[in-house]
Amino acid sequence: MALKTRTAHLAGDEQDEPRTKRSLSDEVYESLITQLVSLEIPPGSRLTVDTLARTFGVSQTPVRAALIRLQTEGLIVGKHNAGFWVAPIPTEKYFSETYLMRELLEPEAAALAADNARADDVRQLRELCSQMEQLVLEGTKKNYGRFAILDDAFHSTIITLSDNGIMKHVLENLHAHMHLFRLRYHASVAEEAIEEHKKIVDGIQNRDSSAARAAMSAHIISSRNRMIPFYHASTTNPPAMPGATRESAQ
Ligand SMILES: [Zn+2]
Repeated sequence: MALKTRTAHLAGDEQDEPRTKRSLSDEVYESLITQLVSLEIPPGSRLTVDTLARTFGVSQTPVRAALIRLQTEGLIVGKHNAGFWVAPIPTEKYFSETYLMRELLEPEAAALAADNARADDVRQLRELCSQMEQLVLEGTKKNYGRFAILDDAFHSTIITLSDNGIMKHVLENLHAHMHLFRLRYHASVAEEAIEEHKKIVDGIQNRDSSAARAAMSAHIISSRNRMIPFYHASTTNPPAMPGATRESAQ
C-alpha cells in the first residue's frame, strides 16, 4: 500500500487554504480519505494505529481519532486493538438502495431547508460550492478526498437545515458520499454536480421550497445516472484496483 506521509501529502493543501484551521486529526483523516477514495489504499488493506502514526510523523491520538471517524463512516472496519481494514466497496444493491433513500428524503430536506435557512446558512452553502469549484479548477488527484468531504458537508448542511432529526439520522447513516466517491471520482462528474448544487442553493436562498425540492431531486437522479456505469465497472473489473480482491467484498 502506498501510504503517503503527512508532509508529502498535506503541505500543499495548507498553503492553499489559509481560511480553514484544521486539527492534526482532521489532517490525518483528510489524507486517509484522499487515499481511500482514490483507491491508493485498496479495499482489504490493513491499517494499524502504530504504523500510521509513524508514517504521518504524529502521535497515536490523532490517528486513533481519524480511524474512529472513518469507522463510523463505514470506510474501515475492525477494532483498535485488533487492527483496522479498509472496507470493501459496497455492492450495486447497496448503491441502488442508497440512491432510492436519497431520492425519497433529500428533496424533502431541501424543501424544508428553504423554509428554515437564514442568510448565514445560505452563505455557508455558497462557500462550500465555491470551494468545490476551486478544487475542480485545480483538478489534481490530491483533491479527491477534499471534494468528497465538501460534497458530504454540502448535503449534511441542507439535511441539518431541514430541522428533522429522524431524517438527519437516517441520511447520515447511509454514509453515501464517501462510498460513492470511492466508486469513482471524475472531474466532469464533479463539474456537473457543482452546477446542480448551485440550483439547489438558489431555491433555498429564494425561500422557494418547490424549486429547492425539484433541484435536489434532479441532482440525486443525475448523480445516480452518472454513477450507474461505474457500478458495473466495480463489479466486472475489480482487478483495476491493485491489491483488491473481490473475495473480500460482499
Ligand atoms: Zn451533491
